[in-house]
Amino acid sequence: MDLILRNISQLILPQKKMWKIKRPKNASLFIKNGKVVAAGSNESSYLQLKKNLKDDWNNFLSSTEVLDCSGKIVTPGLVDPHTHSVFGATRQNEFKMRSEGKSYLEIAESGGGIRYSVRQLRKLSERKLVEATIPFLDRFFELGTTTVEVKSGYGLSLKDELKMLKVVRRLNAVHKITLIPTFLGAHEVPDEYRDNREKYIDIITQEMIPEVAESRLAEFCDIFTETGVFTIAESEKILGVAKDFGLKIKMHVEEFTDIGGAELAGKLGAVSADHLECVSDAGIKSMKNGGTVPVLLPGTALFLGLKNYPPARKMIEAELPVALGTDFNPGSSFTQSLPLMMTIACTQMKMTPDEAFYAVTVNSAKAVAREGLGTLDIGSVADFVVWDAKDLETLPYYFGGNLVERTYKNGELVYSKK
Ligand SMILES: [Zn+2]
Repeated sequence: MDLILRNISQLILPQKKMWKIKRPKNASLFIKNGKVVAAGSNESSYLQLKKNLKDDWNNFLSSTEVLDCSGKIVTPGLVDPHTHSVFGATRQNEFKMRSEGKSYLEIAESGGGIRYSVRQLRKLSERKLVEATIPFLDRFFELGTTTVEVKSGYGLSLKDELKMLKVVRRLNAVHKITLIPTFLGAHEVPDEYRDNREKYIDIITQEMIPEVAESRLAEFCDIFTETGVFTIAESEKILGVAKDFGLKIKMHVEEFTDIGGAELAGKLGAVSADHLECVSDAGIKSMKNGGTVPVLLPGTALFLGLKNYPPARKMIEAELPVALGTDFNPGSSFTQSLPLMMTIACTQMKMTPDEAFYAVTVNSAKAVAREGLGTLDIGSVADFVVWDAKDLETLPYYFGGNLVERTYKNGELVYSKK
């Protein structure tokens, strides 16, 4: 867990002040016991090291493995703040149907979509789901992501929602990646309660939330607030109960229509409000007042072939800490690549490469209440990535490929390109 990275072409250091990124050239990064002990230009980082390690620094220098990073950049590990990484089956048949002209809504109405994912997930045991998810977690490391938020929401019964969250707990124990669990029982009303949605909401508030909170299976409670899914009044009720049980709040809002979800998120002090393609000015203002992080998921518009991307510039001008996520899920966004999200953010939403990078590190960490992650400040955990690129712009510029050479988690090598 001790390592010295030397001659880094650019060391990418996001700062606390929003959107500010330092990028010293010919830089070094020093890792001791899985933590950053010095980072900066070759010269200044040596001075830091001496100061931080005191008498021990000479011994550290002579006994620690050195990695030469000439021609490479090194960045903090990326944080994906919104995924549905546990699922029973992929849905490439729906992708084919969309390519033939069917819409997401038409496919959902004919038995596909989230309800198809629910039927598939319910069939599988906890063990089978753990086995099926591990290769995807390995791939997050391969793409430079070291922390991932994961939602339930394909179970939609007490038993199956708990099963999904237990899968996440188990994966956290057996895999080196950090998973942050979110309860999303209010993802959709399941088939068996289509004619009695009140009953399903009672199950969420009276059975699921108390059980999830008491067994500490989730940190956040999320909901899909949208026309035809959960109304504002229903969302307020469900999230109010979640807050009473000590869960932090996230919301899926304003993806297809504006029904005031972002306004509610701000009012409830939600940690994040996600999607926001159709957000109103009032919604932006409310998020600002409530300290809510907007999480934009531009992979969905690309993958569904839609034209409406969230108004990122407007939110940046309102001084909101805009974050980016993949929304990795088998239906509307089957990608795990945050660099690809950066590309779409730059080309379709006119974010700069610096803003896009800040949005997948510092701001996305904030969106999962993990401030301090997404940086390489002294004392922070040594989650970092070595990229085959000479500067930061190359990450979103080279799209559709993978520039990751090595990924480290807590100072330990967890992925290396052959
Ligand atoms: Zn989602």
